Amino acid sequence: MFKCPHCEKPEIKPLRKAILSPGLLAKCGICSGESTITYKAWLTAMIPGSILMLATLVMDTGEWETTLNVVGFALMVLLPFLFAPLIKFKD
Ligand SMILES: [Zn+2]
Repeated sequence: MFKCPHCEKPEIKPLRKAILSPGLLAKCGICSGESTITYKAWLTAMIPGSILMLATLVMDTGEWETTLNVVGFALMVLLPFLFAPLIKFKD
């Protein structure tokens, strides 16, 4: 579980964090506070996976293409999940 930036309790479910992106909010089950991640952190975390997937489009990667696409996609999910910090959402 990830810490809610409002009440500091570990209440944000890993699955919720995994699909979180800027504009998509995670609601805390304890304090009802809404949190999200910043565009900057999200975009930065998306770069390595995006590069890998783009590389498979422009390069002749042959039998590695599927592997590289899977790894690229995994990075695009995992890096924001692991490294993009949760912040308080304000209207
Ligand atoms: Zn909370």
